[in-house]
Amino acid sequence: MSPVDRRTVLKAGGALAAVTLTSCSEVKPASAGPAGANLTAAGPDWTAFQKSVKGTVYRPGQPGYATVRQLFNPRWDAVAPAAVIRTANATDVRTAIQFARKNKLVSVPKSGGHSYVGASTVNNGLVVDVSAMRSMSYSGNVLTVGAGAKLYDVHAFLDKYGKSLPTGTCPTVGIAGLTLGGGMGVHTRAFGLTCDRIQSMGVITADGVARNVSATVDPDLFWALRGGGGGNLGIVTSFKLITIPAAKLGFFRLTWPESKAAAVIKGWQKFAQVAPITAWGNVHIDAKSNGTLQIHVLGCSTTGNGAAAAAQLESYVGSKATTRTFAVRTHMEAVKYLGGGTTSARQGWLAGSDVLKPMSANTIAALLGAMKTAARAKLPAAAILDPLGGQSAKIPSGGSSWGHRSAVGVVQWYSGLPAHPTAAQIKAAQTFITNGHRAVKPSSAGGYVNYVEAGRSVSTYYGANYARLQAVKKKYDPTNFFKNAYTIA
Ligand SMILES: Cc1cc2nc3c(=O)[nH]c(=O)nc-3n(C[C@H](O)[C@H](O)[C@H](O)COP(=O)(O)OP(=O)(O)OC[C@H]3O[C@@H](n4cnc5c(N)ncnc54)[C@H](O)[C@@H]3O)c2cc1C
Repeated sequence: MSPVDRRTVLKAGGALAAVTLTSCSEVKPASAGPAGANLTAAGPDWTAFQKSVKGTVYRPGQPGYATVRQLFNPRWDAVAPAAVIRTANATDVRTAIQFARKNKLVSVPKSGGHSYVGASTVNNGLVVDVSAMRSMSYSGNVLTVGAGAKLYDVHAFLDKYGKSLPTGTCPTVGIAGLTLGGGMGVHTRAFGLTCDRIQSMGVITADGVARNVSATVDPDLFWALRGGGGGNLGIVTSFKLITIPAAKLGFFRLTWPESKAAAVIKGWQKFAQVAPITAWGNVHIDAKSNGTLQIHVLGCSTTGNGAAAAAQLESYVGSKATTRTFAVRTHMEAVKYLGGGTTSARQGWLAGSDVLKPMSANTIAALLGAMKTAARAKLPAAAILDPLGGQSAKIPSGGSSWGHRSAVGVVQWYSGLPAHPTAAQIKAAQTFITNGHRAVKPSSAGGYVNYVEAGRSVSTYYGANYARLQAVKKKYDPTNFFKNAYTIA
């Protein structure tokens, strides 16, 4: 979700303090626990570890530790890793894995730190932070990028070559987390998911082996890493990604009154299924603190003609939008518009998702009912429906583990939270997400792994691909070294 979207949620929802429910069912961040950390008599030799790597090891109390342990969501600020290593290169990553194994430390990779559940940090364990590995080069239509690059930087770099990538919108999301879990955005229908653009990857597996996986080298791991989600199968150190043209986009923004909400969702659903792959649009249903719902569709066309795509959507909705705005934006104007600028401030939220098969009129009514309940409770909440289809419905060369190729789209249940929410605020947001899941259950094909959430069975992120993913996990990580509540087991 872009900052544009998140701003809308916060504006629509009104005061965060209005949340009133109690208690919380969230899974706590992983911990190395009593059997995890410092098992050797003298504990891990951190001095030797620092000497063995080119990057920097940050330990509690040392300068920089308080900053490097942070994730994007301040909710995880209390999580205290035994150390964070900011790796300088792939060899450091390998050394870190070997050190963690030797010292029985739970270890998690971190790139942009935007995990929805805090999966890129761990109490008492070792965070392998690849964010300093962000170098980029371009040749022959292929971007070579370090696993720590952030999305805005990737776009700004590629723009110099007249190139782009289909990615998500938040400027500070890490290329690794986004790509490994799929990667949806405005180019999804025209060019597929971010993971569909992977030509090869550098990855260090749990055995400490450095691999350069592709359709011909370790093809099973290559298949699994394209959609299997970050943190599961190894630590990716770099990607080779096949680029797309950095073309102008024709944007549209349409609004309808609440009375048209069901027709808009029904029309959007048809749009996602039959509109040309050049057209894209997502529906935002924002719960307002006065108990009403605000409906808009933000869309664009890679042809540059946003008006034509908007007219097509209106024809499926069966009524003209109340307000319409159009703008043609260059590649970088579009990146900044969608991302709300060149960077984004840390913020709190709780979210979940459902991957959608076609919804009946009853299911659409139930979805709107869940949103209305949130609005009446004055919860700062939104449902955002992103389309799939087009190129993303096609299995890329060599196949990939992303499990939902035939779905209509993904609904994200999003609730803005303060930086350090109370248990009652978390509970209220969780209740909203649970209500959303319940509403669309007849059409839910599972969840989107990049919107990973507490309480959802891991298998539901992968559909029919889960058994094969389990087999690949067993082959490359037989001791389950990369393990938390959200990993493939
Ligand atoms: C504000 C915001 C906007 C977003 N917008 C979009 C969007 O438009 N489209 C979309 O598809 N998604 C979007 N997302 C979801 C985003 O794709 C996921 O949260 C993604 O996992 C974040 O990646 P990261 O590298 O920033 O996070 P991290 O927290 O660093 O990593 C996420 C997961 O990947 C693992 N990981 C990190 N680095 C590596 C590595 N090098 N090798 C292996 N595993 C690794 C981590 O351990 C963790 O499990 C958004 C998220 C936020 C917070």
